[in-house]
Amino acid sequence: SKDLIDTSKLTPMMRQFFSLKAQVEDSILFFRMGDFYEIFGDDAEEVAPQLELVLTARERGDKKKIPFCGVPHHSARNYWLKLLKLGYRVAIADQVENPEDAKGLVRREIVQVFTPGCIEDLEGLEADTPNYLMAVYESPNERAWALALVDISTGDFRAGSIESFADLSSYVQRFRPRELLARRFIHDDVKKQLEPYMADSSLSLASLPEGILRDPERQQALIEEKFSVSSLADLPCGAIAAGRELVSAVIDYLVALHATTEQFLSIRPLQESQTMILDETAVRDLEIFETVRRRQSRGSLFREINRTRTPMGARLLRSSLAAPFVDLNCIRERQDHVRACLDAGGSYLKDLRERIKGTPDLERLSTRVLSGKAHPLELAQIRDTLAITLELKDILQSKEQVRSAMTQACSVFSEAREPLELLGQALAETPSPLGSLGVFAEGHDLTFDQKRELSANGRDKISQYEQKLRDETGIASLKIKNHKTFGLLIEVTKANLNKVPESFIRRQTMVNNERFVTDELVALGDDLATATDDALQLEYELYTQLLDQVGGFRESFKRIAGAIAFVDLIQGFAWLALENSYVCPDHSKSGEIELVACRHPVVEGFVGRHEFVPNDVVMSKPDRHLLITGPNMAGKSTVMRQTAIAAIMHQIGCYVAASRARLPIFDRLFTRVGAADDLSRGQSTFMVEMSEAASILRQASPQSLVILDEVGRGTSTQDGMAIASAILESLAKDIGCYSLFATHYHELVPLADSLEAVRNVQVEVSERGESVQFTHRLIPGASSSSFGIEVAKLAGVPDKVIGRAKRYLSEGQNQLASLVKTKAKKDDKAAAPIPPLEVQGFDAQTGEMTNDHEVVDRVIAKLRGLNIN
Ligand code: ADP
Repeated sequence: SKDLIDTSKLTPMMRQFFSLKAQVEDSILFFRMGDFYEIFGDDAEEVAPQLELVLTARERGDKKKIPFCGVPHHSARNYWLKLLKLGYRVAIADQVENPEDAKGLVRREIVQVFTPGCIEDLEGLEADTPNYLMAVYESPNERAWALALVDISTGDFRAGSIESFADLSSYVQRFRPRELLARRFIHDDVKKQLEPYMADSSLSLASLPEGILRDPERQQALIEEKFSVSSLADLPCGAIAAGRELVSAVIDYLVALHATTEQFLSIRPLQESQTMILDETAVRDLEIFETVRRRQSRGSLFREINRTRTPMGARLLRSSLAAPFVDLNCIRERQDHVRACLDAGGSYLKDLRERIKGTPDLERLSTRVLSGKAHPLELAQIRDTLAITLELKDILQSKEQVRSAMTQACSVFSEAREPLELLGQALAETPSPLGSLGVFAEGHDLTFDQKRELSANGRDKISQYEQKLRDETGIASLKIKNHKTFGLLIEVTKANLNKVPESFIRRQTMVNNERFVTDELVALGDDLATATDDALQLEYELYTQLLDQVGGFRESFKRIAGAIAFVDLIQGFAWLALENSYVCPDHSKSGEIELVACRHPVVEGFVGRHEFVPNDVVMSKPDRHLLITGPNMAGKSTVMRQTAIAAIMHQIGCYVAASRARLPIFDRLFTRVGAADDLSRGQSTFMVEMSEAASILRQASPQSLVILDEVGRGTSTQDGMAIASAILESLAKDIGCYSLFATHYHELVPLADSLEAVRNVQVEVSERGESVQFTHRLIPGASSSSFGIEVAKLAGVPDKVIGRAKRYLSEGQNQLASLVKTKAKKDDKAAAPIPPLEVQGFDAQTGEMTNDHEVVDRVIAKLRGLNIN
């Protein structure tokens, strides 16, 4: 179907289709025909199976057929939303003139293009997640990278510079955009860099429009028009190298999609300077938004601590977690609010939660208003939100301590009064869709009420007339039906035809009945049509007016939505603290970390509140580094992660999972935990591990918290140990940050003893005769053994193997080697000495191999058993 098409031979309709399709080649085109949207050609072949539609074909004029499938217009939205979820772009071509007025073919135009990063329809959005479009641009001469982040559903627009192209992935990890805009010629580089995100199609790639990038005048004009400033320097984001090009290109892209851009009031900086920096690995390793293994949100920190009850609150929690505060005042402000809610008591909190629950998404709804696409029901949701807002205000003011804490939110909530009045008197209680005369309440507009009355009267008159005809003719089953193309018709069944009077004029004969009109019915029909058309016309005008008026409140709505999000976040923190007995952490001026009976919020939920063993983590100024030893599965990484999580929760103003807590403010959090998932990136595990270690060593400051788990395990024991020792020493001596360092290299213990700033701690293991038991308790000192064999036993490795392992362990390596040698000699095959059975075992000096099958088999078995990580 990719062959050249001679358009002159096509039907006019097909010609129109191909010319529209050429405008939106990378989108699936929904082509409106009457009551249907049709999808033609390659598009149809591609999506019919995914949408479970029947694929058929029709003549296209040149003796060839074109495949197509179709969906009814009223349910088309569900289909395009489904395609968007699958990562497609969808273009909508509508009829832009009334078919009755059209001379020849009805004119059609592309009225909107939806892309995964450009959706404002609430049905197509995940309530608790921003829907980001990200864009990057490198200025050709300045060699600077600018990055923009846009959520068209909420009006969130941010922009800033990034240090290098390599930083892109950390932004993608934190903000999880659905779509990335980059110039076409760097798409391959982008795909390589972002492979893990592109693989599962959760991120789709599109091209930054080129034309505007070469047109500084248009760039300037767009910025001026959109943001009413002459340069980005006048906006909160400040001047950005290559920023004008990027921002204007993003706007240009959105305009070309026919998306609304009214909701963008300003541009924020990419990174509020006052936030804790969580890099890509920290967000991933701490499983803040999704688990590492399954990449799902169940089991993530966000899920575990989220007690918000509105989409706005949930999104605020998300963005807080992605960028915690470093400003003590911001932290304290939230803590004070949480405390006020807790002081007001559990039942008060319950009432507050009950009232805020399910508050509609004002932030996104107001964007719908600005786009002019809001349905009457969406306006009603705004009205309901405003009403809830005032109730919330009453609840907040009903308790002294809450009232004094929440004065700002309350004053913002008062702004709801005016728009509520407007919508309250305008809209029907449950408005019906536009075009059914049920949008407005009685009394909103007197002229409209009259017209609606006339239209309703017309309908009444017709049913009276129907009754009259039944009485006159004696045909009880006689019905007047409104037929789409023929208008009002009287239906009489075949059996009653003999009773039909002269005055009935026959119009149609059906299988079971015949259809008639009368002069009176035609007159009644005309009256009804005029009255209804009139009323509909006015309804439409009034609705457009109302949207305009409501749009005028957009800044209020933004503030109100922000206040709802804030109150929701705070009540969620309070409830979380109440449910789980979390405490408010104190700020530690002197820089100590003191977490008493600290827990891991997620693991605790997972193993059970009473099963989880709380631990104390204390790090004072002189010893800011803990070297944690203990066998695998003892709980080393859990205790390290819970410390990092407590730091994050502290810095978003939330209470923490401990019975007492004192924490300093960290500027940055680094983690290097686990390695398994990196294999999928095609880089060697060790290489990834080292490049992450390198970035920590380069960037950590004395105020940073660094978590390192089993550094160096990606290489040979000797190398690994040497590198781990050197890293630990550098953290302690050169950088002076806070660090938690878990290792199974006991050889590091003496080093830790020799460094003043490092303290040895271990996760306790109690030995019970032959076996071991993990108590998960963090205790002073260093662990003496790695208990590898005991752990293997716990994991269910067969007794026979465990027995052998113990023997080998006690006999030591040399004996193991000679064992193999003896065996080989006995078989009298191997002339050369058999190398010892170590990983690096094959003798590089002789290069000799053996033919002894048994030896080879054992080597293979040994290799198979290796932990490649
Ligand atoms: P390590 O890092 O030492 O290999 P982990 O921290 O991954 O060990 O812990 C292994 C498992 O032990 C966890 O998945 C959890 O089920 C359990 N665990 C860890 N810490 C605790 C604790 N404090 N209380 C109860 N169970 C724990």
